[in-house]
Amino acid sequence: ARERLVHGERLAAIGEMAANLAHELKNPLITIGGFAGRLVKGLPGTSREHHYADTIVKEIGRLERMLADILAFSRKPTICYSACDAGDILRDCFASCTTTLEDHCVSLATSFEDGPWPILGDAHQLKQVFLNLMLNACEAMPDGGSLHVTLKKVSLDKKCILVSIQDSGGGMPADMLPKIFTPFFTTKPHGTGLGLAIVNRILQNHGGSIKARNEGRGAVFTVTLPQVEAQ
Ligand code: ADP
Ligand code: MG
Repeated sequence: ARERLVHGERLAAIGEMAANLAHELKNPLITIGGFAGRLVKGLPGTSREHHYADTIVKEIGRLERMLADILAFSRKPTICYSACDAGDILRDCFASCTTTLEDHCVSLATSFEDGPWPILGDAHQLKQVFLNLMLNACEAMPDGGSLHVTLKKVSLDKKCILVSIQDSGGGMPADMLPKIFTPFFTTKPHGTGLGLAIVNRILQNHGGSIKARNEGRGAVFTVTLPQVEAQ
């Protein structure tokens, strides 16, 4: 037990160091990306230099997203609870996802049972949860496909809100399923492997849970959140 405690402390120290490092790296990256962006604008679109500067801008963007993932994962979880509605949060996500869905030629279908869907939580973090799941779904369907989001209420040991996000992207090998929520597990060349780890942690902090399985032509992620009684 003592060894585990020491190990835990060491992990916490490494996590804090990673968070500090990620934070410190952000400012110079923003500067580099900003100036490279100006170079892109000032150079003729056909020149080799334009291509170089454009590549810098794109790669800086990728680094910024990776740092944001690392920060989100290592930050101490502080939740600003407020009464919110799962349907509103999902609709908000659809709006933010429009261009990503279009870029991937993914068609969105929704099946919402009658609302409202009252939950108690941090709307910003919950939005992050569903955006991560929708982004993964899009990335699993590079040649297009369909995304089906359902929202309903169920009674398990207590009343819950159930959101399922199903894609047609081919799913995952069975032996991979137990590993996907582990930090840094990724099968993508440029993935961070932190998306589902962040999703899992946010949901746990909200008293919820997530499960993944294969169904039909793809994967389904099912999110469960405790429903709060309308006052
Ligand atoms: P990343 O997206 O950076 O790889 P995630 O934690 O979001 O990290 O996902 C971990 C892995 O789980 C992915 O690399 C992929 O192999 C698998 N995965 C997640 N969502 C899906 C999905 N909808 N369909 C197929 N595989 C998925
Ligand atoms: Mg991801």
